[in-house]
Amino acid sequence: MIKNTVILLEKNFYEDGKLEKLLSYELRPNIKEFRRYNEVRKNFVKDFAEKLNSMGSLKLSSNYKKILNIEKAKEIIGIINLNIDGLLKLNGAQKLIELEGNISWFYCSECGMDKDVNLIINDQSEFLCNSCNKNILKPSIPFVGQEFSQWDLKDSWMMLNSCDNFIIFADNFLSPVTISFIDIVEKRSKNIFIICSDSLNSASYDFSSTDIKFVYESNEVYLDSLIEKFGDSLV
Ligand SMILES: [Zn+2]
Repeated sequence: MIKNTVILLEKNFYEDGKLEKLLSYELRPNIKEFRRYNEVRKNFVKDFAEKLNSMGSLKLSSNYKKILNIEKAKEIIGIINLNIDGLLKLNGAQKLIELEGNISWFYCSECGMDKDVNLIINDQSEFLCNSCNKNILKPSIPFVGQEFSQWDLKDSWMMLNSCDNFIIFADNFLSPVTISFIDIVEKRSKNIFIICSDSLNSASYDFSSTDIKFVYESNEVYLDSLIEKFGDSLV
């Protein structure tokens, strides 16, 4: 029987992480420069708009639909998403932590005001927060010089400290934060399943624990098996 389960989606869950690569942390502006210089902001939004356009409209993938379905099971404590498309949130996910943030809206770190991403892309003057008039709006993804949201990180730790199963959809890559999460669950001797391609194994990340199981199935096949296991508790 599957009990308290946390699911983590690595950066490459949606369209092989295309968006996460286009907007990878190293390519983002420095937060201080972004706040200080109009030129930096203009360049960022121009580049951001071009990259979003190159992605076409972001659509809920069949795997995301499966995640939304599985999330309804009472055994699921939460979903930690490292993808930044925002699609799960936009489609009503309830137990979601978007640890890397989400590009679908811009917000003000002074007063919390937010605006839809398209407003900003269509009119750069929308950049100024017209609620507090003191600050500049930015997407909720961390810029260089910024960390993950400490609240989200703490919520993630809390979930990981109360789960019996930790399921990671990873393909061929584990982020440093994922590895730190594995450590937490490994210390508690709970089950860890890493759904991945066969290029990942215990040797590649120096995991000693026998609680970690590498599952060489496609995300799709494994998601289907979860839907089957949760069966009755799904609405
Ligand atoms: Zn503001």
